[in-house]
Amino acid sequence: MSLNLHNISVNFGNLSVLKDVSMKFETGAISVVLGPSGCGKTTILNLLTSMVKAQTGKLEGVGGHNFSYLFQEPRLLPWLTVKSNLKFVLGEIESKEKREQLCSRFLEMTDLSDFSDWYPGKLSGGMKQRVAIARAFAHPSDIILMDEPFQALDLKLKLSLINQFISLWKGEKRTVVLVTHDIHEAITLADKIFVLSEKPASIVDSFNIEEPRERRIPGSSEYLKIESRLFRDLIE
Ligand code: ADP
Ligand code: MG
Repeated sequence: MSLNLHNISVNFGNLSVLKDVSMKFETGAISVVLGPSGCGKTTILNLLTSMVKAQTGKLEGVGGHNFSYLFQEPRLLPWLTVKSNLKFVLGEIESKEKREQLCSRFLEMTDLSDFSDWYPGKLSGGMKQRVAIARAFAHPSDIILMDEPFQALDLKLKLSLINQFISLWKGEKRTVVLVTHDIHEAITLADKIFVLSEKPASIVDSFNIEEPRERRIPGSSEYLKIESRLFRDLIE
């Protein structure tokens, strides 16, 4: 079942953050919530994991899920090797063999096999984030929540990590909710985009992108069409 927000409002004391927000995150799709800094994007993810309660409105379909989280910082455990960082999230899986197998598979898919015994401190920022991506998929979750995970990276690294993420996701299409203020990230990744206003955030636009991801190339006519729509949404 999809994750549904129905007319959700969230206040922190006197601060109104979300105002009458309704969204539907489809199962097995990548939904992107695009909005300016401070508008309430992280708050939406916190609603889904029940870390924040809504004052009004209703959430539907959020119970009984296993979540993986991907943050802007990789948040690896520095005292564990790359491989052990992955194994750490596999605790629920009984069979040792199965844990090993999952670990090797995701390290291979993210080109990290040669670094499985390294400690995070020795890795570059991009590699650490790749470990975090591998970990998000290794964790037996059905929903991946992503909080601006490509933000701190330079353009080339960002593109290569986005591609790696998409190919992992194509292998097993989990439900993804990605929040970001980056238009390019939104266009490149989304099946569906929700655009939020400044806080108190309400939805100013939402639409599906049907164009296959490999054709969403910056500068192409399809890309420009979506980009100018998002520019208008965010600036007006
Ligand atoms: P975004 O992720 O879009 O940058 P957030 O959801 O983190 O925005 O925060 C939206 C607003 O709510 C900000 O002004 C932030 O300071 C405030 N806020 C977020 N969480 C809390 C909290 N637990 N208590 C008080 N204020 C909060
Ligand atoms: Mg945030």
